[in-house]
Amino acid sequence: MTIERLSPGSGLQPYHPPEQWDDWREYDPRQWPRRVERRYQLVPTICFNCEAACGLLAYVDQETMTVRKFEGNPLHPASRGRNCAKGPATINQIQDPERILYPLRRTGKRGEGKWARVTWEEALDEIGGRIQKAFREGRRNEVMYHVGRAGYERTMDRILRAWGIDGHNSHTNVCSASARLGYALWSGYDRPSPDHANARVILLLSSHLESGHYFNPHAQRIIEGKLKGARLVVMDPRLSNTASMADHWLPTHPGSEAAVLLAMARLILEEGAADLAYLERWTNWREYMADRLPGEEPSFSSFLAALKHLYREYTPEFAEGESGVPREKIVAVARLIGGAKGGLASHVWRGSASGNLGGWQVARALQLLTVLTGSVGTPGGTSPHGWNKYKPVFWEEPPPAKEWNELLFPREWPLSHYEMSFLLPHFLKEGRGRLDVYFTRVYNPVWTNPDGMAWMEVLQDESLVGLHVALTPIWNETAGFADFVLPMGHAGERHDIQSQETQSGRWVSFRQPVLRAARERRGEVFRATHEANPGEVWEEDEFWIDLSWRIDPDGSMGIRHFFESPYRGGEKLTVHEYYRWIFENAVPGLPERAAKEGLAPLDYMRRYGAFLIEENVHGLEEKPLTVPAGTGPLRKDGKALGVEVGGKRLAGFPTPSGKLEIYSRTLVEWGWPEEALPGYIRSHVHRQALDPEKGEMVLLPTFRLPTLIHTRSGNAKYLNEISHRNPLWVHTRDAKRLALETGDLVRVTTEIGHFVNHVWVTEGIAPGVVACSHHLGRWRLHEGEGSRWSAARVALERRGTTVLMRQIEGVGPFPSPDPDSSRIWWSDGGVHQNLAFPVHPDPVSGMHCWHQKVVVSRARAEDRYGDVLVDTARSGAVYREWLAKARPGPGPGGLRRPLWLDRPLRPAEEMFVIPAESPPKNE
Ligand code: SF4
Repeated sequence: MTIERLSPGSGLQPYHPPEQWDDWREYDPRQWPRRVERRYQLVPTICFNCEAACGLLAYVDQETMTVRKFEGNPLHPASRGRNCAKGPATINQIQDPERILYPLRRTGKRGEGKWARVTWEEALDEIGGRIQKAFREGRRNEVMYHVGRAGYERTMDRILRAWGIDGHNSHTNVCSASARLGYALWSGYDRPSPDHANARVILLLSSHLESGHYFNPHAQRIIEGKLKGARLVVMDPRLSNTASMADHWLPTHPGSEAAVLLAMARLILEEGAADLAYLERWTNWREYMADRLPGEEPSFSSFLAALKHLYREYTPEFAEGESGVPREKIVAVARLIGGAKGGLASHVWRGSASGNLGGWQVARALQLLTVLTGSVGTPGGTSPHGWNKYKPVFWEEPPPAKEWNELLFPREWPLSHYEMSFLLPHFLKEGRGRLDVYFTRVYNPVWTNPDGMAWMEVLQDESLVGLHVALTPIWNETAGFADFVLPMGHAGERHDIQSQETQSGRWVSFRQPVLRAARERRGEVFRATHEANPGEVWEEDEFWIDLSWRIDPDGSMGIRHFFESPYRGGEKLTVHEYYRWIFENAVPGLPERAAKEGLAPLDYMRRYGAFLIEENVHGLEEKPLTVPAGTGPLRKDGKALGVEVGGKRLAGFPTPSGKLEIYSRTLVEWGWPEEALPGYIRSHVHRQALDPEKGEMVLLPTFRLPTLIHTRSGNAKYLNEISHRNPLWVHTRDAKRLALETGDLVRVTTEIGHFVNHVWVTEGIAPGVVACSHHLGRWRLHEGEGSRWSAARVALERRGTTVLMRQIEGVGPFPSPDPDSSRIWWSDGGVHQNLAFPVHPDPVSGMHCWHQKVVVSRARAEDRYGDVLVDTARSGAVYREWLAKARPGPGPGGLRRPLWLDRPLRPAEEMFVIPAESPPKNE
């Protein structure tokens, strides 16, 4: 293993040589100016603070066997030794004096803030016994696992399949569902994988230089691309740090992005800049001609003429009217993109796709540009994510469940991507079902989701949620409403495999409990990871294995079998064996690479933390299949497994046609024929939907700060010292109209209530639009429940159907074993806004449409900073208004959803068919 030197012959190198990782020596900076040497084991792991899975190196002090710090792992193929601020801040999370160190069980009423320490054995027995009873009584759909940050690959899919349940819930449709559906409809893959480093033009409807998905690995490569001459275009109503680095910033009115993208597509088509050969070869234009123009010559030229006709109204003038971006700028950028010729790298995440009604069409319109410029899967282009992501397989796959849970996939949203997770409280209140055992795992819906009051209400109702188990590394607002709070490890305290589509290539990385790994290298033996972690902090892998044995102790339920060792028949699976099997058998090239170093594959991953499986993955749609052409269609789950092109059988795309679907028969067949091609849906916050008489504006509540991440950064002192307030961004023109200055207190009124915040007057936001970052405004109801580095103490006051949350104590110094806690100089923890938002489920993707119509006014005499008021009756009414927009299934063949569209924890195929005489669960 070698690492590049900073400059040839200089002797300097940016990282410590791996040969010295077992015994790295450096001076202790705290002892300066004395030269006191410390000796470390450097143990690789991966960051758990965002989805990017960057590599970290833990510095384990050989004298104290404690972790001293985290730095980047130079051998990680995506992050290459670099991290954002949140990576090294892992040390704060591990050393936080307020962290949960032992399993807790509530002793008072749920949500009352009374807890007692219990043992892991007690917790496992009670939870396992309850699940076993539910399973034996045929109540499998009453057990649900709800995940925020997954951080693993396929782990829970295997576990929940082994349990035979349809009980996987996620956070996807408060995050990325709309963008995913847009991409999935095109290619069967639900995310883009841009090759920024080799692009000619980088088009971002996101903020990947400062935050966004895969922020650090992408940011490195965007800058590399720029240094090689790529032009950066950013579409964002807010002057983000990413937009500030752009060659062209297009501050579109929220929700108008698809209009601008389609205007660009029209111009590229009209000016002859499109890659017509690719369009003809790889899109399903023949299906369009057959379905929509059956009387016409089914030629590509006829299709092209039809396409130009379809987009004829998307003139630069129209796009300017919708977006507010000058037409000349739209034309200039369209020509730039048209000239990319196979080198357009693009991404949309959160922002326009997640903010707006119809956001999934934004992703489809963006992908249209990728296709028109012939940039699908090219060097410098944008690949389907699946080409660049590794997924493990196991020695034995449990069969798919014979269940369908309508609390997750109800009939109203047959194309939802994925579970309708944020509507769970409304479904439970409507009587669509109940939960007997509900796991929240690194998930904080009370705070993260819209309409958190509805979550609090349901979580306190034991008739709706029998037992709530919070698996979490940190106190959070939702854990306060649990029965068990079970401490799970941060990065460096747990095992996981992770792989992401950060670049053109596939890699796998390994998260590991670094103290256990370091002590095992010294010959110590541990039965469980919590024996080596601080307190009794555990990891989910071992927890699930033990819990599964509790559910099925004698194996008679067919569950235990899947949690037995592949090496020692009938014995309990260990976490070492789990990863040993995957690394020995399911990572191409790893055993050979490890053998070159004289290591077993597991030891290689423990030592280096990551492995590059392949680089420069391009053009996989052209890969020839071994099946000869003319042998009839190959299909599985409604997807093509190959496609005939030019007399050859090629891999193609996993769509029904095997091609890129510019025209979606799926949308036609499932009730959305008017959206069959990439189009433009006017958002719920479109200018025409705003009432100027009332002073309505658009609130962008979704932007990330580079230094924070949802819930988990709440206990990282370095990060909270940097970022601890989230004022409302207001344009100078609006500030003048409203007679506001920076620092003034305003009331922001939503459909269901209001919140009170300070104002930041800036030119960095489009007029008529206000913005507020969602990372701040953490709160705690009770002492001892929450991180005082970031969370204000609040009280709830109920008046009829309204609830007022008011801060009663801000952030401030507190005594603890960490002297820094008495040095907290900031008193502000920001304002929680999501509580004041109703649910807005997109009728197609199911995504919560985050943007809000709001009225901003000077705060009233009774208002206090941080106030949040919610009318819970009104929140139910808004839910029903959006529910009415949906177009329920069943679809063709009585199906609940198209067989070919992916969903997590896919049940057996027959479960996709709605049984006769089975009324929907809301009736
Ligand atoms: S981008 Fe930052 S938070 Fe995300 S994995 Fe990398 S270092 Fe961690």
